[in-house]
Amino acid sequence: MRLILLGPPGAGKGTQAQRLVQKYGIVQLSTGEMLRAAVVAQTPIGLQAKDIMASGSLVPDEIVIGIISDRLDEPDMKNGFILDGFPRTVPQAAALDELLKKKHIKLDAVIELRVNESALLDRVETRVAEMRARGEEVRIDDTPEVLSKRLASYRSMTEPLIHHYSERRKLATVDGMMTIEQVTREVNRILAAVGAVEPKGAAKASAPARKAPGAARKTAGRAGKKPAKTAKKAAKSTRKAAKPASKAAKKSAKKAGRKAASPARGRTAGKAKKAAKSTAKKAAKKLTKKRAKR
Ligand code: AMP
Repeated sequence: MRLILLGPPGAGKGTQAQRLVQKYGIVQLSTGEMLRAAVVAQTPIGLQAKDIMASGSLVPDEIVIGIISDRLDEPDMKNGFILDGFPRTVPQAAALDELLKKKHIKLDAVIELRVNESALLDRVETRVAEMRARGEEVRIDDTPEVLSKRLASYRSMTEPLIHHYSERRKLATVDGMMTIEQVTREVNRILAAVGAVEPKGAAKASAPARKAPGAARKTAGRAGKKPAKTAKKAAKSTRKAAKPASKAAKKSAKKAGRKAASPARGRTAGKAKKAAKSTAKKAAKKLTKKRAKR
């Protein structure tokens, strides 16, 4: 699975990425985390990024592109990855397109977590309170003032990526205001729909012929199902992403249907033959009786 999670700070990208890491054993690449580690280690990149990050601005494109390019070459990338917080600008997205092309890596999907901005401040405040309660160090950029700046830079620099990936038919949008559990379910549904992971009912589709049509139809239904409460646009893009899998499921339903139909047709034909035989016998008996009477 090769996935990009897109969304403003506090949208839940990190939480969802963690869940996917646990479920599928893939690697999460968070440029924010990498940069924070560089700051702590006081590497040249860290020293360069420190003040920029503290102010809520974006670190120069060439720095993050360099970090990601090096990371993609490491062996643990083979099983797949989730990009969280990268790309964040159109030049970063263009550079990533090039990198993936060069490395022959195909991106499965870009999932945008769409959230209501007014709720983000509450979320970040909760996150800060929870971190403090756990005795963890609070991020220097997790203050209301810096958050507004990060949100502004998301709007102007990162939101154009929605168009970038939607044009490339890679974008699916999930309503990030749903519960964590619901968002996870929706994310998994999209991943199955684009073929990035095995759909839940995949085993059922290869069940015995008579059961197959139902199972396959079920899978087709799930893959093509509209998201429950996503915005109109979000639903549209989710459907777009689900299209290929939905087509595949329909095809397999048709195929399974054909398989199931042929033995059934055989049985019906057998019964009809028997019925025809007994009708012919009865008719012959009647005729013999009539002749005998005459
Ligand atoms: P995050 O943890 O993703 O919210 O990132 C924290 C901070 O790291 C951001 O506010 C930026 O200053 C910097 N950063 C992370 N990823 C990028 C990126 N792709 N491009 C530029 N700056 C980034």
